[in-house]
Amino acid sequence: MDKDQDKRRAFDKLPHLVSNRILSLGLQTNSICILCNLADETRDHLFFDWNFSSMIWEALARKARCSPISTCPQLLQYLQQRSCPKPERILGLLTWQVAMYYTWTERNSRLHRQCYRSSNSITVSAAAMIRNKISSFRDSNPRLASAMFQLWVSS
Ligand SMILES: [Zn+2]
Repeated sequence: MDKDQDKRRAFDKLPHLVSNRILSLGLQTNSICILCNLADETRDHLFFDWNFSSMIWEALARKARCSPISTCPQLLQYLQQRSCPKPERILGLLTWQVAMYYTWTERNSRLHRQCYRSSNSITVSAAAMIRNKISSFRDSNPRLASAMFQLWVSS
């Protein structure tokens, strides 16, 4: 199995991981999405169907010059295989990772701390993280970092 397939399988399991673990401890939980109470909490629901996560992703995707596809696996395939210069492709992947990270963090903070943020506030934090990540490439690959930075700030 190649590395991408491996990562995808881990990604497929993500949203059920936590609730399955709780169930195995004999504690009561259910699989309903705690964010909207309207659907089962699956990966596709959390990262794609949930209006909140798509607003974050669409705003960031626009800035990263990605097509804001919001269906899986079409998006993953698009991000990995789009034919564009490398800085643009890496920026797209980075942006998607950061969008997922913030969606997952928001889900956890609502679940465990009853702490809610707006999608705008999250998008601002996510954009700052993307900027920092790009800067962190500067030592190892200054040309790539500079090209990604240009793309990010010029859109
Ligand atoms: Zn939901």
